[in-house]
Amino acid sequence: MKVYLDNNATTIVDPHVFAQMEPFFVQRYGNPNSLHSFASETHPALKDAMEKIYAGIHAPREDSVVITSCATESNNWVLKSIYFEYILTGRKNHIIVSEVEHPSIIATAKFIESMGCRVTYLPINHEGVVEAERVREVITPKTALVSVMWANNETGAIFPVEEIGEICAKHNVLFHTDAVQAIGKVPVDVQSFNVDYLTMSAHKFHGPKGVGALYIKKGKELKPFFHGGAQMGGLRSGTLNVAGIVGMGKAMEQAIDALDFEMSDVRQMRDTFEDQLLEILDTFVVTPREKRTPNTILISFRGIEGEAMLWDLNRAGIAASTGSACASEDLESNPVMEAIGAAEDLAHTAVRFSLSRYTTQEEMDYTINVVRKAVERLRGISSSYAYSPEIR
Ligand code: PLP
Repeated sequence: MKVYLDNNATTIVDPHVFAQMEPFFVQRYGNPNSLHSFASETHPALKDAMEKIYAGIHAPREDSVVITSCATESNNWVLKSIYFEYILTGRKNHIIVSEVEHPSIIATAKFIESMGCRVTYLPINHEGVVEAERVREVITPKTALVSVMWANNETGAIFPVEEIGEICAKHNVLFHTDAVQAIGKVPVDVQSFNVDYLTMSAHKFHGPKGVGALYIKKGKELKPFFHGGAQMGGLRSGTLNVAGIVGMGKAMEQAIDALDFEMSDVRQMRDTFEDQLLEILDTFVVTPREKRTPNTILISFRGIEGEAMLWDLNRAGIAASTGSACASEDLESNPVMEAIGAAEDLAHTAVRFSLSRYTTQEEMDYTINVVRKAVERLRGISSSYAYSPEIR
């Protein structure tokens, strides 16, 4: 049996999404900006897709949704644009990010830090959550931007973006949230709280890879990151990824339709699986489930290296993760486990299971049996588990 439980890394493209994209490869392949029928044939589908993306996050027409190549681009754009506009010019000198942001924020923050910007990395609490209070403590009149993700990719922890947005508004500071792991998992409404920029990525909600977006509130325009042919209203040059945009639009529509299912059925399946995992001796979950997206579990099995568990799971056809896919080649400890100050013996034991609306109960039943056997086998050969009874 093959079981895919790595949906926070990427998701299967929904067949309806794929069907809508397909004609834009070999039939309607025109460049939308050309002056002939091949171009104009793409326009209705593009318009429809953009409307679906706006509707999915409740963005008013006066605001902008700019299509990018991925969330990494959107995140880079926000931070670097703020750097050019506010830091380099000396108007402000500081930005705030959480210490558990995706590498596309952390690495960019470190880059602009190396260029002279002061960066505060907000800590998470023992539950893996960034508290809004931490923002209040460090925000200053010289802060240009606060960037805190909506939901964490490793733990699924949901961060208090409404409260953080309010603090930013009070201090007249721009607020960006990376909502990549929130879309399709929790209701996202940019009009319901103060947010200036919001990052999305289609492949995390059953759309295609290589297409993302950045929501920009009216009046908070950014300087373009890509200069060129002035597509996307001059905000993001580059020939439009027609099939990708069409796919993202359809995927957004489906994600919104499936939201109740995610929040009830997927959650229920996740919770049952989690109960079964926690019945295994010496297991440990950081973030309480009610503070998490409905599909995610990050769990530690004491005495078992995360990679060893992945190896056993993979041999049985099950795909899980030890953290973010981008970092999984370096065999480092999980950054969230490090951030909560997990002891060295636990920091390397985290395994992430992330479900989707395609996950079946049969797959979960199969997985729990494989996990139980893997725990028995791996603890049987684990020197740290067998010979350190004081940590049990
Ligand atoms: N932000 C978060 C929270 C993510 O989980 C990811 C992907 O893992 C990204 C950004 C990057 O997304 P993309 O692959 O579209 O660049």
